[in-house]
Amino acid sequence: MKHFIVHYQEIVLKGKNRYIFVNKLIENIKYATAGLGVKQIRHKDGRLILDLSAGAGEDMISDRLSKTFGIANFVLTRRISNDVNVFKEEILHHIKDRNFKSFRVSARRGYKGYPLTSMDVDRIVGAHVKESTGAKVNLTKPELTIYVQILSGETYFYLDKIQGPGGLPAGTGGIVVCLLSGGIDSPVAAYRMMKRGCSVVFVHFHSYPYLSKASQEKVQDLTEILNQYQQPVKTYMLPFGDIQKEIVLSVPAKYRVVIYRRMMLRIAERIAGEAGALALITGDSLGQVASQTLENITTTEHAVTLPVLRPLIGMDKGEIIAQAIRIGTYDISIIPDQDCCQLFIPKNPAVRTIIREIERAEMRLDIEKLIKIALVHAN
Ligand code: ATP
Ligand code: MG
Repeated sequence: MKHFIVHYQEIVLKGKNRYIFVNKLIENIKYATAGLGVKQIRHKDGRLILDLSAGAGEDMISDRLSKTFGIANFVLTRRISNDVNVFKEEILHHIKDRNFKSFRVSARRGYKGYPLTSMDVDRIVGAHVKESTGAKVNLTKPELTIYVQILSGETYFYLDKIQGPGGLPAGTGGIVVCLLSGGIDSPVAAYRMMKRGCSVVFVHFHSYPYLSKASQEKVQDLTEILNQYQQPVKTYMLPFGDIQKEIVLSVPAKYRVVIYRRMMLRIAERIAGEAGALALITGDSLGQVASQTLENITTTEHAVTLPVLRPLIGMDKGEIIAQAIRIGTYDISIIPDQDCCQLFIPKNPAVRTIIREIERAEMRLDIEKLIKIALVHAN
């Protein structure tokens, strides 16, 4: 029978709150691997052990674990005898099909009461493998590493470690609302907040029926990918076309972009209230476009009281793209769509707005009415 052993890293640091993080991690793993043959998850000696039923979907489980935040690394492993003289034979049996000229043994004790030290185990197993296979011991660059883990009453062996995504378990960091556009940046921003333990509620503004439904379809696909990293929370689709029309009619063209953004944040803040969220998230990166100068970021954010967090603020476009490719959102983000921001975009948006001027321009708008228009038609 096989098992996965999951190692968490950072959550060890959380002192008395540790059990909250571990319990949440267990809950998230249960959710992510539901129906794949995980019989039970046990917390033992600072690790999680997933006991598998016969015929469990090992590859699928592995894929899900690689997307579960809070996991440093994990291994697919076999349980072996607790007696070194027995398990050295078992290990030899399991590696007989592997081709290697050099190896090392790396034993670790999660249970310090074991009668041998890790080094004793390394030496005994190493000598046996060397003698039986003719391979050389190489401690620095071996072709094969044989890992042995000694826990209280259970011993395991494995050959390959799989990297986890790191971060903190989703759901331990509170709820945030992410403004998700369908572009490259905001999905990466959402991912980075999830990685820090947040549950992310998505809000998308579209211009249907003025423009096609393409942006909404993209956002659906993007949230499907992003929700592999958390237990899905609601996605809100909000009409923005009528709001843009009002803004175009009432405010000077150069201020439109900032005022669109201020309206988006205000509406998102209302949704945050409903969802119990404590912050708003955007994909802004400093200086990338006209709306992302320090001045415009300041005037935009002034429209709301909740903090607006921008996890990508100091990243280059190239770095953001590389991350989007790793997450799997890039291919969807680059599909051409009709983003609401392409509608009624002025030729020369102001890059250095000041709050007083923007507030004066907004006096011609019935802000509360515009917020209601979007909220009433949310779906
Ligand atoms: P992205 O790649 O995320 O679209 P961007 O580089 O195109 O970002 P902007 O279009 O200025 O930059 O948007 C800045 C941020 O404002 C976005 O990252 C997103 O958080 C938010 N935003 C923009 N348009 C929308 C929209 N239609 N719906 C929801 N949020 C939006
Ligand atoms: Mg965009």
